Amino acid sequence: MPDQLSNEFKETVRTRTDLVALVSESITLASIAGGREFRGLCPFHEDHDPSLRVYPDRQTYRCWACNSGGDCFTWVMEQERVEFREALEILARRANIEIPRRGRNAGDAPAGDAKTSLYDALQWALGEFHQTLLEAPFAENARNYLRGRGFTDATIGKFKLGFSPASWDWLIGRARGKFSPQVLASSRLVTQKQNGGFADFFRGRVLFPIFNERGQPVSFGGRELPGDDASGGKYWNGSESAVYHKSSVLFGLNFARDAIKKANAVIVTEGYTDCIALHQAGIENVVATCGTALTDDHVKTIKRFARNVVLVYDGDKAGREAADKALARFLAQDVDLRILTLPHNQDPPEFLAEHSIEKFRELAAAAPEVWEYKFAVARDRHKLDTVDQRLRVLDEMLTLMAAAPDMSHHVREGALLGNLSMRLRFTESQVRERLQELRSKGTASKRPVAAERTPADPAIDRLMCGQLSGDDKLECELLEILFAAPETAAFVKSDIVPQDLRQPRLRDLLGICYELTTDGNGPTLHRVLDATENQELKRLAVWIDDQARMKNVRALLDEGTAGTDGCPRFLRRSIEQFAWRREEQSQERIAVELSAEGDGTHRIDEAAEAKLRQLTQFHQRRATSKGTRN
Ligand SMILES: [Zn+2]
Repeated sequence: MPDQLSNEFKETVRTRTDLVALVSESITLASIAGGREFRGLCPFHEDHDPSLRVYPDRQTYRCWACNSGGDCFTWVMEQERVEFREALEILARRANIEIPRRGRNAGDAPAGDAKTSLYDALQWALGEFHQTLLEAPFAENARNYLRGRGFTDATIGKFKLGFSPASWDWLIGRARGKFSPQVLASSRLVTQKQNGGFADFFRGRVLFPIFNERGQPVSFGGRELPGDDASGGKYWNGSESAVYHKSSVLFGLNFARDAIKKANAVIVTEGYTDCIALHQAGIENVVATCGTALTDDHVKTIKRFARNVVLVYDGDKAGREAADKALARFLAQDVDLRILTLPHNQDPPEFLAEHSIEKFRELAAAAPEVWEYKFAVARDRHKLDTVDQRLRVLDEMLTLMAAAPDMSHHVREGALLGNLSMRLRFTESQVRERLQELRSKGTASKRPVAAERTPADPAIDRLMCGQLSGDDKLECELLEILFAAPETAAFVKSDIVPQDLRQPRLRDLLGICYELTTDGNGPTLHRVLDATENQELKRLAVWIDDQARMKNVRALLDEGTAGTDGCPRFLRRSIEQFAWRREEQSQERIAVELSAEGDGTHRIDEAAEAKLRQLTQFHQRRATSKGTRN
């Protein structure tokens, strides 16, 4: 395997990472069982009842519903959809551990490394832009503009706002000797021209850095200065890159995360400046979409932190349309969605210039639930005086429901249909029929279902679902013993070879355990997790470890007196069962051979007689042994 980072390095990163803190960065965890466990909504399946458990003592997590599980590396791999190497680097960086270099400038750097250099370039550019805004004489206009918008120095510092001068090669020049134009281009900091040359992407703009959840800059939003005649519009948003996906990144989330969790509510604004203004005013559970409408991925991200969402829109037509789209996205989600439109079509900064922050909080708390909001809009448009008008309102509302993904058969559907039936005075079956009609019209444009997780190994899933054959049970138990008491590995190893296991994945796991015994330290769960980068094996290892704890295998091993060699009785019994199984198998082979030989054409010879004797003896021994074993 090329270029493996050492297990010691992995172990260092692991010991410096607290899984509870790490998971808390993505979902809200609650402590249970006196702090021995934490639970939260699993991000890997559609979870309504917190099924994810995080175990601080073991530093592992596991979902009881979808069976995902693993350690800190698995968590990052699944959350960020990255390979092991990148997960390791992410966690190393998070823990401020220097990553061993390996010829980063070599042309054949793998993808993980390429992303790392994008992050490095963006972080560097962020510093350049920010410093320029604070100090450069030519950034005076930009500073005045931000002051004019009411942003304080503290806010500018917190959000690391920046300025890029109106030049085609300012950033390229400063990057010389640090980052190649190709890396800058991949980071979308510069663009490649037709003639092959490069040019700065952001020119003469105030910059709003966009951070990912971990607080790494991934892109910038640029705003032109008033009076400038910059082509390209007032706002100039960064392009997508390997590290920036508009449809899933929420501006401000890295700053808002804790406040969102605390309030169990998130306020979503349309623009960066709205979001920053609210933060500055003291409301910190605020994020913004980055120049796009709210997407399914945004909703997913939001749901991980809070179940109450307030969308703040300017009360104009565009805002209403955006609210319509958002409504369809939220309908089938277990999210309480409210729409806040500020009076006189004001945006949040305008509103805050005239009113106190308390007033804003009041309005946000009283914002109508989205269904009500939508109903009010439809009612105002069509009125409810005639059957025809009521039908139009009905159609408008049902069209939204028909467009909502995953809505059919959702409990919420029944409640909403009942609500419409009552208010529009149609029977519930009429309402339901109409919804079916609208839905069948729309089925032609069904969206494909995105895969939630990397496809799981069916054999492992079967084990975890409790569909265990007698063989599986025996083999799992052996591994449970190893995990519960790694010091017994020598006993196991001297009597059992991996090939004795019939389930290939369990065999792989035993092989790893054996490799780990060579240095005398024993196969602890963490060492096993470090020794493999295979997600499925890790998932299996965490599950086995869980089983061992649930069955209290450690206590079973301590029960009774150990043999003269010090091997616990419980383990000895397990090893004996393997021995029996092996012998049984060889006797079965003999029986098959005998039946082939005794098909009437051959006389039973001496050798065959010996085999037959052996077989009989085996069955006798097994009968006696079963008597004493049980
Ligand atoms: Zn799950």
